Amino acid sequence: MKNIDTYDFSGKRALIRVDFNVPLDDDLKITDTTRIDAALPTIRKVLDGGGAVILMSHLGRPKKKGENKLSLKHILPYLNHVLGIEVKFADDCMGESARTLSAGLEPGEVLLLENLRYYEEEEGKPRLPQTSTDEELKAAKASVKEKQKEFTKQLASYADCYVNDAFGTAHRAHASTALVADYFPEDKMFGYLLNAEVESLNKVLKEGEKPFTAVLGGAKVSGKIQIINHLMHKVDNLIVGGGMMFTFIKAMGGKIGKSLVEDDLLELTKNTLEGAKMHGVNLILPVDAIAADAFANDAKTRLVKADEIPDGWMGLDIGPESIALFNKVLMNSKTILWNGPMGVFEMPNFAEGTVQIAKSIANATQKGAFSLVGGGDSVAAVNKFKLADKISYVSTGGGAMLEFIEGKALPGVAAIER
Ligand code: AMP
Repeated sequence: MKNIDTYDFSGKRALIRVDFNVPLDDDLKITDTTRIDAALPTIRKVLDGGGAVILMSHLGRPKKKGENKLSLKHILPYLNHVLGIEVKFADDCMGESARTLSAGLEPGEVLLLENLRYYEEEEGKPRLPQTSTDEELKAAKASVKEKQKEFTKQLASYADCYVNDAFGTAHRAHASTALVADYFPEDKMFGYLLNAEVESLNKVLKEGEKPFTAVLGGAKVSGKIQIINHLMHKVDNLIVGGGMMFTFIKAMGGKIGKSLVEDDLLELTKNTLEGAKMHGVNLILPVDAIAADAFANDAKTRLVKADEIPDGWMGLDIGPESIALFNKVLMNSKTILWNGPMGVFEMPNFAEGTVQIAKSIANATQKGAFSLVGGGDSVAAVNKFKLADKISYVSTGGGAMLEFIEGKALPGVAAIER
């Protein structure tokens, strides 16, 4: 595999898949530049190495070509500002402008291609009205797959090498995230951002020092079952909190009042409990909970045993004894993976469990553990509590990160490693 640090970019044009899917306000101004800023080291590396850069990305979910509010031209002023050069813009990623501008690029220059998703070929999925018949859909699918080959080939024709730096879309087998890599068998590589994500996830899942503790929370068991099954072969401790704990507690015969539960998963959850015993995994559930009489921040609350939630009450956070129990396990861990909040942390009265677990993970990290936090809500939680810089790695991947910890191969990663 080629490495961005050692690759010779001199005189070459690098096609870089970035994630510039940034939020824009009504005046089409960027409201959060994090994703653009995160791609800058990779862009600068190519430019400093004497190469030219062709940037490609999607923005939002356009329904048709040319939707102005989803044009990447809106990010040009910011890009010019941070790179300190005038970035060229091809107003159609398949148009004449893209061909001529990419062909004429000089070392040190940057070209941005218009939104890839203006073309259905990028995702390889037809955009048909919902009223379409099955036959129409089948024919359209075949046709878009065929057109996708030409689309990919043309993207590849703009450059001499390919760099994927978009982890957020690495779980998609799209033209720009995976298929295009095959046109550069000797000249494809990860950008810095994608590399850091893959390295950190591998550090936890493949090379994690023991004891390895995974903390899983969030609403439902159904959303996490594949993660649980995959982690079962890897972890020493599996801490379960959040709404999903009640399906486990009910499966063990506990009383859960009107807490969130997935009755159709009780059998599966029992199997998971058995599986944990078989694999020697210490599956740890909360021992106490903050119960509320309604799903509201100002609801009446009581501290109760986690398996004795009174009728008519629902558990919305873990209690102090559970926090202390989890803290002890975390402080003795060398590798920590956290996904999903411990309670309804969006409501201040039910955020304590999540805050304290985030703090325990930060403290364990300071003591030498490697910690990785991922998934929208847990990342939001560490940011909200200003603990992100005390965690070893905060994954930005969302869906991609979840699929990675489910043990699935990510097409965007596999296409480079292949
Ligand atoms: P997920 O997307 O599956 O990680 O779930 C995150 C959501 O789970 C957050 O919006 C939390 O408010 C919610 N959640 C956490 N604990 C509970 C609970 N005890 N009851 C209901 N929802 C919860």
